Amino acid sequence: MISEEEARTRILKNITPLPERKVPLASALDCFAAHDYFAQLPLPAFDNSAMDGYAVVASSCKKGGRLRLIGEQPAGLDRKLRVGHGEAVRIFTGAPVPRGADAIVMQEDVTRHGSDISLNVEVEPGEFVRRRGCDLAEGQMILHRGERIHAATIALMASQGFTDLIVGGNATAAVISTGDELVKPGEELQAGHIYDSNSVLLNALLQHCRARVTTVEHCRDDRESLGAAIKRGITSHVLMISGGVSVGEHDLVKEALRELGANIEIWRVAVKPGKPFVFGSIQQDTPSPHSSPSGRERRTRSAGEGSVSRSNCFVFGLPGNPVSAFVTFLQFVRPAILRMMGATNLDLRQVPTKLAVDLTNDGDRPHYIRGRLEDEKFRPIGRQESHALFGLSQANALLRIAVGQSLKADELVDVQIWD
Ligand code: AMP
Ligand code: MG
Repeated sequence: MISEEEARTRILKNITPLPERKVPLASALDCFAAHDYFAQLPLPAFDNSAMDGYAVVASSCKKGGRLRLIGEQPAGLDRKLRVGHGEAVRIFTGAPVPRGADAIVMQEDVTRHGSDISLNVEVEPGEFVRRRGCDLAEGQMILHRGERIHAATIALMASQGFTDLIVGGNATAAVISTGDELVKPGEELQAGHIYDSNSVLLNALLQHCRARVTTVEHCRDDRESLGAAIKRGITSHVLMISGGVSVGEHDLVKEALRELGANIEIWRVAVKPGKPFVFGSIQQDTPSPHSSPSGRERRTRSAGEGSVSRSNCFVFGLPGNPVSAFVTFLQFVRPAILRMMGATNLDLRQVPTKLAVDLTNDGDRPHYIRGRLEDEKFRPIGRQESHALFGLSQANALLRIAVGQSLKADELVDVQIWD
């Protein structure tokens, strides 16, 4: 049995980012930038009005004073007007500020008298003028390599004129849930059966990491079905197998993987819940007459027409207990998938908070306590056992307690958040 740190190190040592790709801006949500991007334009790109109103020279304005209207400047073109002392230009939000003007007076603060206006307020220089470059300077870094692309990032890149972005590769993942006791929701439950909840759990967790789930299938606890399902699954970058990785006679996953030539790098990690965790990889030969070598595929033989490329599938075997599957996914699978997709920050968000109760770990493995972070306090919720799915469903944070660690109520701790 190895430590969590050792497990994470061994997993990440094996994972290299997938080849980058170009995607239309609108499809880049939640992808990771494959390189650094810099501003091509300052923002705003020109001095413009923040209000519908009047462009003026502030030093020629005083409350009660009158100004002569000399023109109108709408948004969307530059009429190249010039404002002098005692003059004003009617202006609209987003329109370029005319030369000479150094302030905008809101239309609500002005009384119109035909071709004159009178001012109902004092005017400060710079008022309601959005200065060129005040938000963003040309050349400034706007997106770091490995950074996640959010809705606002997409908007920013559009404002810079980008139509597509170079982002990290899209990891594909297949899911197999094993167990003779499992029945698909919607089907009839017989005595001793339970509904398969890990299939949808893993599907959802994978999607949450933005991996593309290729197949989700159920497999009975027999070597033949398992072998066939694994063979289908390894055509994806990642194969997730739920259940069957423990020590019982029906836990056949490791054997089935070995029979297919898998290299099993990890079995059993000192973590609670989630000890019987498996990590390995399987190489498979695929005919690829036209494929080019990439991060995942290495051409091994060039046999005239129809060369063979060797692709690597990373296999994660998670314990069948739903909470164990959840915790091991977040601790070990999520960082691997994020790295494949080009992310630089592989860690869950940590939030400092106060503990609501005393907690001690008397066990021999670090323990991830499921709880709720609410009103700036973390409180364990539900049964802290690996089958207790209801408690997990009510939780929104994990607290890791090291072996022998004793924490007191009101103590400051860091909890992990996954949303
Ligand atoms: P295993 O890891 O296969 O020994 O399963 C451990 C426990 O998790 C058993 O109680 C299983 O019934 C349960 N379990 C296994 N797979 C699933 C699943 N897909 N959905 C819900 N529970 C499961
Ligand atoms: Mg099982």
